[in-house]
Amino acid sequence: MTADLGALPLRPDLAGLEPYGAPQLDVPHLLNVNENPYAPAPDVVADIAAAVAEAAGGLNRYPDRDFEALRTDLAGYLRVESGVELAVEQIWAANGSNEIMLHVLQAFGGPGRTVLSFAPTYSMYPEYARDTFTGWVAGRREADFALDPDVARAALAEHAPSVVLLASPNNPTGTALPPAAVLAVLDAAAAVPGGCVVVVDEAYGEFRRAGVPSALELLADHPHLAVSRTMSKAFGLAGARVGYLAAAPALVDALRVVRLPYHLSAVTQAVARAALRHAPALMAQVGSLRDERDALVDWLRERGLTVADSDANFVLFGLFDDRHAVWQGLLDRGVLIREVGPEGWLRVSVGTPQDMVAFKDALVEVAGL
Ligand code: PMP
Repeated sequence: MTADLGALPLRPDLAGLEPYGAPQLDVPHLLNVNENPYAPAPDVVADIAAAVAEAAGGLNRYPDRDFEALRTDLAGYLRVESGVELAVEQIWAANGSNEIMLHVLQAFGGPGRTVLSFAPTYSMYPEYARDTFTGWVAGRREADFALDPDVARAALAEHAPSVVLLASPNNPTGTALPPAAVLAVLDAAAAVPGGCVVVVDEAYGEFRRAGVPSALELLADHPHLAVSRTMSKAFGLAGARVGYLAAAPALVDALRVVRLPYHLSAVTQAVARAALRHAPALMAQVGSLRDERDALVDWLRERGLTVADSDANFVLFGLFDDRHAVWQGLLDRGVLIREVGPEGWLRVSVGTPQDMVAFKDALVEVAGL
């Protein structure tokens, strides 16, 4: 039976809208949603299973609402990964960084307020804005997808947002922001009347190239900064839905007000903690994905394609007169990538070496390289 939406009091601004999401197709090479291509190793699976079994014995009770143990483990992980010392009160977590961002906008956005970002960027951002009744403004990135500090300052002065979302490395372009650009936004945000929270979305942070710093290093001096991360990418745990954020304790306290009670299930907490115990091995895998990414960028450039610099686990490349035909040709050969970004560009996630061979062979055929 199909639902008759006409009879339901749907919010007028939601009428006719489709749910967000890339196609989930059953093809051999899934390179369209920037997942980690490596399934958890057998020892990680065994540890996760044991942790879930233990949690299962207590599922008659609600979980630890403040998930202190998980927050402690996440702080420990960030200390090793970025060299930044954080207290447990500075860490927050939720069901994916999508939910983290929703918490941020529930607390700091809302009717009559504006969230600002710089396009092209992650296509969920306007949806968080819509769902929290926050106004959405997209400033512009440069032709090479960098953010000009003067453009950023002017946009903040003009729109006086209460939240700025900066994806770095950015999706779908892969571009990381240099500290100068982030600092320019932080300075301009400090001057916004009524205050402004700056979120640096580092969903792909672990894939950044050597010498590119994390915005976590700026936290100590900027109480209006929040850095969000996820276990979906580097940890290869997209199915578990765990995102997290680091910020000043007062900012985290504001997020605690808007979260649903017990939003992070005992099973989720157990899975995340078990995976974090394997961080060193998982990070070694991130190293090989980074190498695979750099090799892919070189290969595409050698064939005369334009490729955005990437600090992520995906690459934006082009330019094609008919990008849809290229996307379809790859799909016909069992390789699913993403038709996203400015006109003419396509995005491919970094997969296993076998995935990359299949992608390259298919692209050579389809695009006549
Ligand atoms: N931020 C960016 C920039 C992303 O690309 C994604 C996932 N595609 C997310 C956040 C959300 O990831 P998750 O909810 O799985 O943590």
